[in-house]
Amino acid sequence: MSEAKIPYAGFEQGPIRPPSEAASLLLRLTRNCPWNRCTFCPVYKHAKFSLRPVEHILRDIDCVHRQLQLLRQQQLERGRLNHYDLAALSAGLEDGEQQALYAAYSWLEEGCRSIFLQDANSLVLKPAELIRILNHLRECFPEAQRITSYARSQTIDRIAAEDLAAIAAAGLNRIHIGMESGSDRVLQLVQKGADKQTHIRAGCKVKQAGMELSEYVMPGLGGRALSREHAMETADALNQIDADFIRLRTLAIPGHTELFTDWQDGSFQKLGDRDVAEEILLLLETLDGINSTLQSDHILNLFQEIEGTFPQDREKMTGVIKRFLALLVEEQLLYLVGRRMGLFARLDDLQIATRRRQAADACVRFGVTADNVDQVIDELMKRFI
Ligand code: SF4
Repeated sequence: MSEAKIPYAGFEQGPIRPPSEAASLLLRLTRNCPWNRCTFCPVYKHAKFSLRPVEHILRDIDCVHRQLQLLRQQQLERGRLNHYDLAALSAGLEDGEQQALYAAYSWLEEGCRSIFLQDANSLVLKPAELIRILNHLRECFPEAQRITSYARSQTIDRIAAEDLAAIAAAGLNRIHIGMESGSDRVLQLVQKGADKQTHIRAGCKVKQAGMELSEYVMPGLGGRALSREHAMETADALNQIDADFIRLRTLAIPGHTELFTDWQDGSFQKLGDRDVAEEILLLLETLDGINSTLQSDHILNLFQEIEGTFPQDREKMTGVIKRFLALLVEEQLLYLVGRRMGLFARLDDLQIATRRRQAADACVRFGVTADNVDQVIDELMKRFI
């Protein structure tokens, strides 16, 4: 069936968003990932990519707008709404409209500040279509301060600079790119579909178009063989781009990915947490001449407290990792297990007696030693991936 003939099935949202978009209204422009070949990525496996018809997206926007107005009116009349009010409001609505109501409610609760365009690469839309959607969004939600999207470097690289500037002028003001690595060997190994130079060109192009740029980096992706090259080349690419944000998301390997098979047959040797800590330290120490803000806001990261802006916060950030590496091995194991159990968010949490006791009990229960800690942690990590 051609796109124009597909019937509208109501408001819809995709499966993921960046951690920093937790408060955003999620609006689905495309379904799944047009690339879908990265060997570490489980998200859209076996899901076919499709563009949603622009008319459907505009109807989604109208639908959320309608529900938002209704909720605001109800709030004026009754004060803050609770979940019972919401259930009553949703009672007579069709499925798709109900989802829009719940999306509008969450967004209202969060202050209606930002919108995230799903799924994996909204920039594959024709620029004129994307601009039409952005214009409609700005008309409906003038209060939104930020509209953001994921995009692939390869896609950005192909868009004319003037089109990208027009997209920025229409309101798309931040792009999240999954760089993962600056090493060509690592990028090839995991079939990222973009090389270092493409990442650099795309990153610089986003900034020149007047948009904020957020680059995702994946510590551990080079495995044991390419760890050093991964850190050094990634830092070099980031030094040339000077992104607004660098975000860390440590490698985890879910069971149904190609990388899992490589790991099982021994062709990929996964780093343990302590090696990843050293790799991140090397990355941070090699970043130079940039003003990027680094965030480590993903649950998979060992140190969520690493956060700051280069160059002034470098020592503060590297200091966290150096403190960890200087701990006695028993203390490191305690932190690693406690962190993966969700007991610790930062190194200082080791001093919280109750949590420390729970982590120590778990170490005994799992029989954790310096030799088996990585296997124990791989098991614990399965809860988050
Ligand atoms: S481009 Fe992104 S969403 Fe697509 S397969 Fe790669 S990591 Fe997954």
